[in-house]
Amino acid sequence: MRVVHDIEEMRAISQKARAEGKTVGLVPTMGALHSGHIELARRAREECGIVIMSIFVNPIQFGPNEDYEAYPRTLKADAELAEEAGVDYIFAPDAKQMYPKEPLTSVDVGKLTEHLCGASRPGHFRGVATVVAKLFNITRPHRAYFGMKDAQQLRVLIRMNEDLNFGITIVPVPTVREADGLAISSRNTYLSREDRLRAVVLSRSLKLAERLVASGELDAGKIKSAMRDLIMSEVPDALIDYVEIVDDDTVQPIDKVDGKALVALAVRIGGTRLIDNVTVKA
Ligand code: AMP
Repeated sequence: MRVVHDIEEMRAISQKARAEGKTVGLVPTMGALHSGHIELARRAREECGIVIMSIFVNPIQFGPNEDYEAYPRTLKADAELAEEAGVDYIFAPDAKQMYPKEPLTSVDVGKLTEHLCGASRPGHFRGVATVVAKLFNITRPHRAYFGMKDAQQLRVLIRMNEDLNFGITIVPVPTVREADGLAISSRNTYLSREDRLRAVVLSRSLKLAERLVASGELDAGKIKSAMRDLIMSEVPDALIDYVEIVDDDTVQPIDKVDGKALVALAVRIGGTRLIDNVTVKA
């Protein structure tokens, strides 16, 4: 496995692989690799002739008071894990190379970014879509792998790929969880031991939503308040950013579950903002 820092070198490697008829797979990440990322790489390894994993903490997707500086950067350990997972190339450019000038061009995926994390993190999805468009143009993948844990991000990128005719196959990968149900995230490392245990309430509240829908409760308001009650009863000092139920396609809030819906939440526990989601079907 090789670590490539240079954009033009990465472009040449990918071009050569395409010319040789290989299927190019891209796994975009911000590093601090964990078993969620590894699952994406594993899928890519199964399905592609060459696997590129990008590791880039993208400054333009972080808000001014967010954790850009504090975000864990562990390239050496990441390289070992990526190699074990069968990655051929890590693409790890630095921010100066990705943004040599103030970027004047950006990708805005409109209505899909109005709610959920789009509402609480203004500009976040513009930053994500813009950097993923750049990564697509540099690495020219046939297939790109994204986790369902970032449900809104996945929908935004699927739509960007369609709207801008990238022609890439976007492969959604199911959320990898700890044994107790907590969705694995690089930000879980910020949690104290006690908060780590308490964080299980997120996935438990999503399970509750699933059970309610399965038992015929389709009123989104009632489902959301049952989820909030559970969270606040178990973790009274949790700060709920949102608990929302949206249409699975449009990502617009709904009053009644009808067809496929996305139940999503963002909650701060001990100051750490965690997200999780599940899809339900009426
Ligand atoms: P990140 O490094 O957090 O930007 O994540 C990079 C990719 O890994 C994104 O497509 C995420 O959705 C995906 N990912 C992160 N955590 C998980 C997880 N627990 N299960 C599956 N995919 C994940």
